Amino acid sequence: MQVGSLWEAIAPPAEPLVPLREAVKADVIVVGGGFLGLSSALHAAEAGLDVVLLETHQPGFGASGRNTGFVVPSLKASLGPAEVTQALGADHAGRLLRLVAGSGNTVFGLIAKHGIDCGAVQNGWLQPGHSQEAEQTLYGRMPRLLEAGVDAAWQDRGAMIARTGLPTLYGGIRIASGGQINPLAYARGLARAAAAAGVRLYGESPVTAVERDGNGWRVRTAAGVARAPRVLMTTNALIGDLLPQLRASIIPARVFQIATQVMPAAIRDRLLPDRAPVADTRRHTFALRWSPDGRLVTGGLVLPAPGRMALARKVFARRLNRLVPGLPEIRSEYTWTGVIAGTLDFLPRMMRLEPGLDAVIGCNGRGVALTTTLGREVGSWLAGRVTDAELTLPLTPPRPIPFSRIAGLGPDIILPVWNARDSYEARFR
Ligand SMILES: Cc1cc2nc3c(=O)[nH]c(=O)nc-3n(C[C@H](O)[C@H](O)[C@H](O)COP(=O)(O)OP(=O)(O)OC[C@H]3O[C@@H](n4cnc5c(N)ncnc54)[C@H](O)[C@@H]3O)c2cc1C
Repeated sequence: MQVGSLWEAIAPPAEPLVPLREAVKADVIVVGGGFLGLSSALHAAEAGLDVVLLETHQPGFGASGRNTGFVVPSLKASLGPAEVTQALGADHAGRLLRLVAGSGNTVFGLIAKHGIDCGAVQNGWLQPGHSQEAEQTLYGRMPRLLEAGVDAAWQDRGAMIARTGLPTLYGGIRIASGGQINPLAYARGLARAAAAAGVRLYGESPVTAVERDGNGWRVRTAAGVARAPRVLMTTNALIGDLLPQLRASIIPARVFQIATQVMPAAIRDRLLPDRAPVADTRRHTFALRWSPDGRLVTGGLVLPAPGRMALARKVFARRLNRLVPGLPEIRSEYTWTGVIAGTLDFLPRMMRLEPGLDAVIGCNGRGVALTTTLGREVGSWLAGRVTDAELTLPLTPPRPIPFSRIAGLGPDIILPVWNARDSYEARFR
């Protein structure tokens, strides 16, 4: 039994980044080597900036290397265009929905452009209802999704069952530009592309202080220091105590993943036959995909208790056997975990902490395509090609969430209620 990420086991190896051990200067310092930091750095360098990127461990160490690898050109299931407009106003909502609509093609376009070997399959992303009522809600969203430019197509129940091989699901949405990747391999590929574009990337370099330095900023690591007029924080949920106002603006939520034993060919042919990943509308989402080496990958939340990894291994194996008929007894051969940066409205934030010190954070559980695409815009913005007023997200001061650390336990604690309601709806409506 292995405890560790499947992605680590099957990603092409990467040359480890060396730590910063000297004093360097740049136009911009990016803190964090996830998709957001890597994409921002890559695009800023392509726009002509001299960029330094500092990462506590190695690229993809955070959520970016640990996620399910779904490339989802859509926001969370509960966030239809009407909800986004209510939260952001018509102008920013329109921009965000358009950005999200194109985000699948952005990811697969970058993968093709930089020749990133990450098991990329752009065969669509499926969102079925888990109940008849959920199916109707999704159906009601279709016109606004199409209006926002999302390449969404309605799949009635028969079509959805044929596409997934899962007879318990209802009709729902297919977004053709979605798909799946090995996320750690993608992060490593983005890091290579950024280095080739001139970004100076440093690993094993946790930033310990961000201080004023005249009109600019001084960023300290254990063994080095970097100076620049601008600093971009892309630390997501792993920020620790570095900038308390930034940490308090998100709710960290721990998510677990398992990968099963390699499945027999007959099951691989029957289940998700065209390799499009699926995530349904349950409160505790049921998400499923194939790995390139023939394993099923799924996961979710686990009650806060000692031994959560061992619990996750059992819980998600059982859940798979319950929700997917005809599988052999599931063994979780890989189990791993990562932390999402959540926000109360499930929308990402772009924040000005102080002049020259900005942060993008809170891509929730929909960050693969969204972070990459926001990073492209942020790179252009850092280079002065996009103005503050033209940004997709409003540039706001940090808005701390009261008791944000404790709030992170909310989904875990409410989990039994969610599970019960999800099962009731799936069976009886
Ligand atoms: C288990 C799981 C499954 C998910 N599944 C999906 C999915 O299928 N599809 C999807 O779209 N989204 C998914 N997500 C969400 C998605 O992974 C994230 O939204 C996205 O990866 C966030 O990217 P990021 O660059 O903002 O942050 P991260 O990838 O977390 O990167 C932040 C980086 O900052 C570094 N850092 C932090 N503090 C410092 C410091 N002081 N100095 C230097 N570096 C620092 C960290 O080490 C880390 O590498 C999932 C998330 C999890 C946890």
